[in-house]
Amino acid sequence: GGRIVIVGASLAGLRAAEALREKGFRGQLTIIGDEPYEPYDRPPLSKQVLLGHAPADHTKLPRRRAIDAEWRFGVAATGLDRAAKHVHLANGEQVRYDLLLIATGVRARPWFNPAEAALDGVFCIRTRDDATGLREALAAGPRRVLIVGAGFIGSEVASICRELDLAVTVCEMAEAPLVGALGGVIGRIAAEMQRDHGVDLRTGVSVTSLVGDANGRLQSAILSDGSTIEVDVAVVSLGSKRNVEWLEGSGLAAGAFGVGCDAGGRAFDINGVATDSIYAVGDVARAPHALYEYQFLAMEHWDNAVLGAEVAAHNMVSLEPDRRPHLLLPGFWSGQFGVNIKSVGVPSFGDEIVFTQGSVESRSFVAAYGRRGRTVAAVTFDQGKWLEYYAGLIAQSAPFPPPAPGWDQPAEMTP
Ligand code: FAD
Repeated sequence: GGRIVIVGASLAGLRAAEALREKGFRGQLTIIGDEPYEPYDRPPLSKQVLLGHAPADHTKLPRRRAIDAEWRFGVAATGLDRAAKHVHLANGEQVRYDLLLIATGVRARPWFNPAEAALDGVFCIRTRDDATGLREALAAGPRRVLIVGAGFIGSEVASICRELDLAVTVCEMAEAPLVGALGGVIGRIAAEMQRDHGVDLRTGVSVTSLVGDANGRLQSAILSDGSTIEVDVAVVSLGSKRNVEWLEGSGLAAGAFGVGCDAGGRAFDINGVATDSIYAVGDVARAPHALYEYQFLAMEHWDNAVLGAEVAAHNMVSLEPDRRPHLLLPGFWSGQFGVNIKSVGVPSFGDEIVFTQGSVESRSFVAAYGRRGRTVAAVTFDQGKWLEYYAGLIAQSAPFPPPAPGWDQPAEMTP
């Protein structure tokens, strides 16, 4: 019985709602989302949607089961009163909960200058509407595109632009693309890949301002090396900010780092004590990970939202005293420049890297990451079939460099 309120109606919120019903929760379920849409999938936004292969309204997340919930779309939660167990909504309503799940995710980190961000032609990409707007801008004839920041999303958009045969310049402050997530060795491979595909990649420079014409249309960008480039479209892809402002004053351990929670999803209060009635999952949550020295990891990945939702839902309704920990391995995928990149573990945690299989020249390989003599992550370029093998090694903290897969390892399945 009782009432469970979920704030955030996206991947983590939907999967948690389904899991709660799956696990026998029969009380009232209310899901509050500030977007006007039913839960949809974000990965296709920087891939198929930009290419024009699927309109943004075809990204609705498939439902796993009926969940008999009260959905509140288009209304934001603006506050949390833990003493009264109320969530305050933007329309003045208060919603009472017995258990609360925070799944408010992140938003794109906006361009630092609001007047420049408002120029016609400047985009971020996080939502359906963002993707629709950018798609229209890219499809509107010959365009010169500037990508500000070469993380995963920026690199994916650069790749799409080349597929669309658009001139694209990528500016990255680090020495190469993807360095923050995957390190410099893989970053250099990514840089070559971008240049081979005709991207004008500028590294070690930042964009200092975006300049508009008299009609408020983006016209050019000024870089930190003093150069100016003419552009029609700029995609600001500088990472994310966590949606935690509505939790201010609630006494929860929530801030720019996210919502701190234990391995079972229970949110911590500001004294570091896990609450009994509030949980957090998905991109907004940060839990310590036993395999990574109990560091509070940011895991802004699809798998983490799905599996975290499952664990939190279990812990919210289960009567078992031992709460299931969130011990899953982080992992993600990305498609760019014709290569399928996959990762398991936490590459940024490693300080050594070794290529274990395949070949770097053909951009089809496995790289393993180590720290203090053990294997902590693996990244594959077009060799995703090996991911499970490395996941097994990482879960066991296997020695680094890791053993090559032997003949008893599952090889590629032949149909
Ligand atoms: P979100 O999807 O961010 O959902 C949070 C929801 O809460 C949003 O709808 C938000 O508007 C809402 N909300 C926020 N504040 C409030 C409030 N106060 N009140 C009510 N509602 C609120 N991951 C991968 O592993 N592989 C990929 O290839 C990949 N590609 C991606 C491409 C793009 C363009 C983007 C944006 C993300 C990609 N991701 C990818 C990441 C993946 O989409 C996220 O990890 C996932 O969406 C996280 O789900 P979530 O439910 O935790 O958060």
